[in-house]
Amino acid sequence: MKLLEERILKDGHVLGENILKVDSFLTHQVDANLMREIGKAFATYFKSTGITKVVTIEASGIAPAIYTAEALGVPMIFAKKSKNITMTEGILTAEVYSFTKQVTSTISIAGKFLNRQDKVLIIDDFLANGQAAKGLIEIIEQSGASVEAIGIVIEKSFQEGRKLLEEDKRKVVSLARIQKFENRKIVFMEADA
Ligand code: 5GP
Repeated sequence: MKLLEERILKDGHVLGENILKVDSFLTHQVDANLMREIGKAFATYFKSTGITKVVTIEASGIAPAIYTAEALGVPMIFAKKSKNITMTEGILTAEVYSFTKQVTSTISIAGKFLNRQDKVLIIDDFLANGQAAKGLIEIIEQSGASVEAIGIVIEKSFQEGRKLLEEDKRKVVSLARIQKFENRKIVFMEADA
Protein backbone atom coordinates (compact mmCIF):
# COMPACT_ATOMS: atom_id res chain seq x y z
CA MET A 1 0.00 0.00 0.00
CA LYS A 2 1.80 3.04 -1.33
CA LEU A 3 0.31 5.58 1.07
CA LEU A 4 1.38 3.47 4.05
CA GLU A 5 4.91 2.91 2.75
CA GLU A 6 5.32 6.65 2.15
CA ARG A 7 4.16 7.38 5.70
CA ILE A 8 6.54 4.79 7.17
CA LEU A 9 9.44 6.38 5.27
CA LYS A 10 8.40 9.87 6.38
CA ASP A 11 7.64 9.23 10.07
CA GLY A 12 9.04 5.80 11.02
CA HIS A 13 12.23 5.46 13.06
CA VAL A 14 14.42 2.39 13.17
CA LEU A 15 15.46 1.51 16.71
CA GLY A 16 18.36 -0.87 17.17
CA GLU A 17 18.50 -4.00 15.03
CA ASN A 18 14.88 -4.81 14.41
CA ILE A 19 12.34 -2.38 15.87
CA LEU A 20 10.39 0.19 13.90
CA LYS A 21 8.86 3.03 15.86
CA VAL A 22 5.66 4.38 14.30
CA ASP A 23 4.13 6.04 17.33
CA SER A 24 3.15 9.21 15.49
CA PHE A 25 0.52 7.47 13.32
CA LEU A 26 -0.13 3.87 14.45
CA THR A 27 0.98 2.69 17.89
CA HIS A 28 0.38 5.74 20.14
CA GLN A 29 -0.97 8.76 18.26
CA VAL A 30 -3.27 7.41 15.55
CA ASP A 31 -3.92 8.92 12.10
CA ALA A 32 -7.59 8.09 11.60
CA ASN A 33 -7.52 9.00 7.88
CA LEU A 34 -4.68 6.58 7.25
CA MET A 35 -6.44 3.91 9.36
CA ARG A 36 -9.57 4.35 7.26
CA GLU A 37 -7.55 3.78 4.07
CA ILE A 38 -5.93 0.71 5.67
CA GLY A 39 -9.38 -0.60 6.58
CA LYS A 40 -10.58 -0.07 3.00
CA ALA A 41 -7.52 -1.86 1.59
CA PHE A 42 -8.13 -4.94 3.74
CA ALA A 43 -11.86 -4.84 3.02
CA THR A 44 -11.26 -4.66 -0.74
CA TYR A 45 -8.94 -7.66 -0.53
CA PHE A 46 -11.29 -9.75 1.62
CA LYS A 47 -14.72 -8.55 0.45
CA SER A 48 -15.72 -11.79 -1.28
CA THR A 49 -14.45 -14.19 1.40
CA GLY A 50 -17.46 -14.09 3.74
CA ILE A 51 -15.65 -12.69 6.80
CA THR A 52 -18.05 -12.44 9.75
CA LYS A 53 -15.73 -11.03 12.48
CA VAL A 54 -12.46 -9.13 12.74
CA VAL A 55 -10.26 -10.08 15.71
CA THR A 56 -7.20 -8.26 17.02
CA ILE A 57 -5.19 -7.85 20.22
CA GLU A 58 -5.04 -4.74 22.37
CA ALA A 59 -3.80 -2.07 22.11
CA SER A 60 -2.16 -1.19 18.81
CA GLY A 61 -4.17 -3.63 16.70
CA ILE A 62 -7.44 -1.92 17.59
CA ALA A 63 -7.17 1.10 15.28
CA PRO A 64 -6.56 -0.76 12.01
CA ALA A 65 -8.98 -3.52 13.09
CA ILE A 66 -11.91 -1.21 13.79
CA TYR A 67 -11.64 0.49 10.39
CA THR A 68 -11.35 -2.89 8.67
CA ALA A 69 -14.44 -4.10 10.52
CA GLU A 70 -16.31 -0.93 9.58
CA ALA A 71 -15.39 -1.32 5.90
CA LEU A 72 -16.45 -5.00 5.93
CA GLY A 73 -19.61 -4.24 7.92
CA VAL A 74 -18.84 -6.80 10.67
CA PRO A 75 -18.05 -6.59 14.41
CA MET A 76 -14.51 -6.22 15.76
CA ILE A 77 -13.34 -8.10 18.87
CA PHE A 78 -10.04 -7.41 20.62
CA ALA A 79 -8.28 -9.91 22.84
CA LYS A 80 -7.50 -8.49 26.28
CA LYS A 81 -4.07 -8.73 27.82
CA SER A 82 -5.07 -8.50 31.47
CA LYS A 83 -7.75 -10.25 33.47
CA ASN A 84 -10.89 -8.27 34.02
CA ILE A 85 -13.29 -9.03 36.88
CA THR A 86 -16.27 -8.40 34.61
CA MET A 87 -15.19 -11.33 32.43
CA THR A 88 -16.65 -14.13 34.51
CA GLU A 89 -17.57 -17.05 32.29
CA GLY A 90 -16.69 -18.80 29.07
CA ILE A 91 -13.31 -17.17 28.72
CA LEU A 92 -10.98 -18.43 25.99
CA THR A 93 -7.28 -17.89 26.69
CA ALA A 94 -3.83 -18.38 25.16
CA GLU A 95 -0.28 -17.57 26.23
CA VAL A 96 1.56 -15.00 24.12
CA TYR A 97 5.18 -13.92 24.31
CA SER A 98 5.38 -10.21 23.57
CA PHE A 99 8.15 -9.21 21.18
CA THR A 100 8.34 -5.60 22.35
CA LYS A 101 7.66 -6.13 26.07
CA GLN A 102 9.63 -9.41 26.35
CA VAL A 103 7.14 -10.97 28.76
CA THR A 104 4.62 -13.78 28.39
CA SER A 105 1.04 -12.82 29.08
CA THR A 106 -2.31 -14.54 28.99
CA ILE A 107 -4.64 -13.06 26.39
CA SER A 108 -8.37 -13.64 26.55
CA ILE A 109 -11.64 -13.28 24.65
CA ALA A 110 -15.14 -13.99 25.97
CA GLY A 111 -16.29 -17.11 24.14
CA LYS A 112 -19.79 -15.72 23.59
CA PHE A 113 -18.47 -13.39 20.88
CA LEU A 114 -17.27 -16.22 18.60
CA ASN A 115 -19.07 -19.30 17.33
CA ARG A 116 -18.44 -22.16 14.93
CA GLN A 117 -20.13 -20.37 12.04
CA ASP A 118 -17.70 -17.46 12.22
CA LYS A 119 -15.07 -16.82 9.57
CA VAL A 120 -12.49 -14.60 11.19
CA LEU A 121 -10.01 -12.13 9.78
CA ILE A 122 -7.18 -11.44 12.24
CA ILE A 123 -5.72 -7.94 12.00
CA ASP A 124 -2.58 -6.71 13.75
CA ASP A 125 -0.30 -3.70 13.54
CA PHE A 126 2.99 -5.64 13.22
CA LEU A 127 4.16 -9.12 12.33
CA ALA A 128 7.54 -9.97 13.87
CA ASN A 129 7.94 -13.54 15.15
CA GLY A 130 4.27 -14.41 14.83
CA GLN A 131 3.54 -15.06 18.50
CA ALA A 132 0.61 -12.64 18.76
CA ALA A 133 -1.00 -14.11 15.63
CA LYS A 134 -0.38 -17.65 16.88
CA GLY A 135 -2.09 -16.88 20.21
CA LEU A 136 -5.06 -15.31 18.44
CA ILE A 137 -5.43 -18.32 16.11
CA GLU A 138 -5.40 -20.60 19.17
CA ILE A 139 -8.15 -18.64 20.93
CA ILE A 140 -10.33 -18.32 17.83
CA GLU A 141 -10.11 -22.02 17.02
CA GLN A 142 -11.00 -22.96 20.63
CA SER A 143 -14.40 -21.40 19.90
CA GLY A 144 -14.90 -23.58 16.82
CA ALA A 145 -14.64 -20.55 14.49
CA SER A 146 -12.28 -20.66 11.52
CA VAL A 147 -9.45 -18.27 10.73
CA GLU A 148 -9.72 -17.08 7.13
CA ALA A 149 -6.50 -15.07 7.04
CA ILE A 150 -4.16 -12.78 8.95
CA GLY A 151 -4.00 -9.14 7.80
CA ILE A 152 -0.91 -7.23 8.88
CA VAL A 153 -0.26 -3.51 8.60
CA ILE A 154 3.57 -3.72 8.80
CA GLU A 155 5.38 -7.01 8.33
CA LYS A 156 9.07 -7.26 9.17
CA SER A 157 9.79 -9.99 6.64
CA PHE A 158 13.30 -10.61 7.97
CA GLN A 159 11.79 -12.06 11.15
CA GLU A 160 10.21 -15.48 11.53
CA GLY A 161 6.49 -14.68 11.74
CA ARG A 162 5.40 -15.12 8.15
CA LYS A 163 7.36 -18.35 7.74
CA LEU A 164 5.88 -19.76 10.95
CA LEU A 165 2.33 -18.92 9.88
CA GLU A 166 2.75 -20.15 6.30
CA GLU A 167 4.23 -23.44 7.55
CA ASP A 168 0.97 -23.76 9.47
CA LYS A 169 -0.89 -23.20 6.10
CA ARG A 170 -2.13 -19.75 7.13
CA LYS A 171 -2.75 -16.96 4.64
CA VAL A 172 -0.91 -13.74 5.48
CA VAL A 173 -1.78 -10.45 3.75
CA SER A 174 0.52 -7.54 4.61
CA LEU A 175 0.06 -3.96 3.44
CA ALA A 176 3.76 -3.12 3.91
CA ARG A 177 6.61 -5.61 3.92
CA ILE A 178 10.01 -4.59 5.21
CA GLN A 179 12.81 -6.66 3.73
CA LYS A 180 15.55 -5.19 5.91
CA PHE A 181 16.91 -2.23 7.80
CA GLU A 182 20.12 -1.00 6.20
CA ASN A 183 22.06 1.56 8.22
CA ARG A 184 18.73 2.54 9.82
CA LYS A 185 17.11 2.98 6.41
CA ILE A 186 13.96 1.00 5.62
CA VAL A 187 14.04 -1.27 2.55
CA PHE A 188 10.64 -2.53 1.38
CA MET A 189 9.79 -5.60 -0.66
CA GLU A 190 6.59 -6.05 -2.66
CA ALA A 191 3.52 -6.00 -0.41
CA ASP A 192 0.48 -8.29 -0.70
CA ALA A 193 -2.10 -5.53 -1.16
P1 5GP B 1 5.09 -11.00 17.10
O1 5GP B 1 4.11 -11.57 18.04
O2 5GP B 1 4.76 -11.21 15.65
O3 5GP B 1 6.52 -11.38 17.43
O4 5GP B 1 5.05 -9.42 17.34
C1 5GP B 1 3.90 -8.72 17.02
C2 5GP B 1 3.53 -7.77 18.10
O5 5GP B 1 4.67 -7.13 18.66
C3 5GP B 1 2.66 -6.67 17.50
O6 5GP B 1 1.36 -6.85 18.03
C4 5GP B 1 3.30 -5.37 17.94
O7 5GP B 1 2.53 -4.82 18.98
C5 5GP B 1 4.66 -5.73 18.48
N1 5GP B 1 5.78 -5.40 17.57
C6 5GP B 1 6.57 -6.28 16.93
N2 5GP B 1 7.53 -5.66 16.24
C7 5GP B 1 7.34 -4.34 16.42
C8 5GP B 1 8.04 -3.17 15.96
O8 5GP B 1 9.04 -3.22 15.22
N3 5GP B 1 7.54 -1.98 16.37
C9 5GP B 1 6.44 -1.87 17.18
N4 5GP B 1 6.04 -0.64 17.51
N5 5GP B 1 5.77 -2.95 17.64
C10 5GP B 1 6.22 -4.17 17.28
